[in-house]
Amino acid sequence: MITKVTYPQEGIAMITMDAPESAANILDEQLFSELDRTMAELAEQTDLKGVILISAKPTIFVAGADLKSIAATLDWPEKKIVEFCQRGRAVMARFSRCPFVSIAAIHGACVGGGLELPMWCDCRIASDDRRTILGLPEVKLGLVPGWAGTARLPRITNLEVAVDLVTSGRLISAREAKSIDLIDAIVPQELLIEEAIKIIHRVSTSESFIFDRKKIMGPVENMGDMEAIVQKHGKQIIENKKIFPFAPTVALEHMTRSASLPIKAAWNSESVAMSQVYGSPASRGLINHFFLIDHNKKQPGLVDMSLSPAKIHTVGIVGAGLMGKAIAENCLKRGLNVMLLDANSQIQRAVTSQLKCNYPDRSIHSCENYDSFASCTLVIESVVEIVAVKSQVLQEIESAVDDSTVIASNTSAIPIETLANHLQRPENFCGIHFCHPELMSLVEVVCGPQSSEQTIATAVEFVKNLRKMPVAMNDGAGFVVNRLLAAMIDQSLRIFTNGTSIETIDRAMRDFGFPGGPFEIIDVIGIDTCLYAGRTMWESGSQCVTLSPILPRLVKTGFLGRKQGKGFYAYPEMQGERQWNDSLLSIIEIYRDDKDESSKPNEKQIVTQILSAIVLEATRIIDEEIVADFQDIDLCIIEGFGFPAHHGGILFWADQVGIETVLQTLENISKVEPRIVPNAVIQRHAKNQTRFYPALTPSEKI
Ligand code: NAD
Repeated sequence: MITKVTYPQEGIAMITMDAPESAANILDEQLFSELDRTMAELAEQTDLKGVILISAKPTIFVAGADLKSIAATLDWPEKKIVEFCQRGRAVMARFSRCPFVSIAAIHGACVGGGLELPMWCDCRIASDDRRTILGLPEVKLGLVPGWAGTARLPRITNLEVAVDLVTSGRLISAREAKSIDLIDAIVPQELLIEEAIKIIHRVSTSESFIFDRKKIMGPVENMGDMEAIVQKHGKQIIENKKIFPFAPTVALEHMTRSASLPIKAAWNSESVAMSQVYGSPASRGLINHFFLIDHNKKQPGLVDMSLSPAKIHTVGIVGAGLMGKAIAENCLKRGLNVMLLDANSQIQRAVTSQLKCNYPDRSIHSCENYDSFASCTLVIESVVEIVAVKSQVLQEIESAVDDSTVIASNTSAIPIETLANHLQRPENFCGIHFCHPELMSLVEVVCGPQSSEQTIATAVEFVKNLRKMPVAMNDGAGFVVNRLLAAMIDQSLRIFTNGTSIETIDRAMRDFGFPGGPFEIIDVIGIDTCLYAGRTMWESGSQCVTLSPILPRLVKTGFLGRKQGKGFYAYPEMQGERQWNDSLLSIIEIYRDDKDESSKPNEKQIVTQILSAIVLEATRIIDEEIVADFQDIDLCIIEGFGFPAHHGGILFWADQVGIETVLQTLENISKVEPRIVPNAVIQRHAKNQTRFYPALTPSEKI
């Protein structure tokens, strides 16, 4: 049983939700059935004044709908989706039809369907705890609320507020919820029941709930300036890079169209909106992304979660460049002490004083030498990507620190084994590769052949404490993210040398959903960094890169990317946006075989060629057992280099276009690039018509 009914006072019933053996209550079929039956039974009682709906969970009221059931029904026809919405509404409606006052006493996360349920109650109160958050984040899964959330919210608050919350999917605090009249009172958690009882007595005596129930059945009262709302939020939806615009656009259209109608028409319109987005390609991709993150929270790759990681208070960082500084900032933000050392004392001084200025109440120590690291539980090396320099630095660190200190390298591509060869205690050493600490959540924790399980457990916990996403994986040049990235860069350079322009390639990938095209991404990382990482992978025998002359030529000519103002594009200081770099073409045009764009691949073909090459690299990574399971690759590509989440990951994309298309594309490329040969994993999937994610793939190809 999930629910339990008690009577905290005569005439007052309380339904406590507490899903057994689970940290969260979710709106699954069992909870719906129990609420349905319980409310039917309570409605039969003649002496009740009110019912309180509450959760026994310490951090969650109701976490929303059962996503596993939704994922299993994405191929439903429209009729079934409408029935699914009707069924949920019918159960929740019991809280607005019962012959007594209903009140939700909310503590913890109250989101999605978990907020729609209290919105059917006569009153809502919430705890003042910071863990109490409310919202309708369905659009983040490519869906819209389906149990009358879009119909009741504007009638409880107003249209502008409701449109904002539904189309952005943002979560709000109890305080903000009170300020928009979504909840009636905020009290300390321990006083929730007492306050709920008081409200029941007051509302029951005044019978105001009967009036309110009638009022909500009509059109939205506070509609505001409809045209302005449509304009403002339409623009925000397009500008919001974090959310795929399809579901928010459908929600905006439906909410503004149905605001002037009686609520029944509004919720019928909502069901139609839901049927438009349910099972859409974007929603499937976003649901997959949600599952990837959920999976990572439980098992972040190849790490033994039963081990107790070492506690980290002070982190030493060697190298105060682009990365070292960003890692230091991440540590300081989470309250860790930082010790910083750079060979260039000017850089060290400048970075330390800037960090001290940004984080005045944190401890940042500018080190004179390696001896300062004696008190550190973790030291991260983040110096230039050159084996000899890194090895020297790592040895210096090792000789200064305690026997138990974890030492990590932020190398982009050098195998951990190569660096560990120079150390006395390789068991204490691993890779902690921050893909881009400012822009990306993913951090690869790389387990060298000699890294101890304890070292990996400590590294994973450290990354979690930074509120980043760790994926622990086996060693190999380029690990995961940079191998996939290298495959993208390699194909982009190949398509460029075959005659397609840089702008066309970048536009094609941006239109697919990447935050920037491949050449823009190279500029952000640094052309030199990409060159060195690519070279490391090539030297280790990796098949995902060739030695294109373009990057070395650019580095030699002084084109290093955005950090230095010029790369594939120009970044004039103080002028904001990047510009096309005219001087570039004269340098690299000689490497382009054919300049006639008319016979070149169109944008869709460019995307398919580049992504197919990435699929090939992803399947090689699976073959080499670098990751614990294939989902880790999809998490890495989304959270590590900005693959669009609504495509669900590179292997998820392969499923959607069909692995046969990938195979065909690779076979075509292999005629001119023998390295790009489809491997056994791809051949097998194509032959057996199997999928990586059979459950989430539509019956028909997109
Ligand atoms: P950077 O050139 O900006 O900084 C390197 C810093 O190391 C410089 O300040 C330099 O003075 C210092 N340094 C060089 N030799 C040293 C030594 N012997 N002792 C102490 N300090 C020394 O480079 P970066 O972009 O910060 O990259 C650092 C590391 O992070 C590299 O391994 C790189 O591959 C990796 N990385 C880079 C990116 C990226 O996007 N740039 C992303 C992830 C990882």
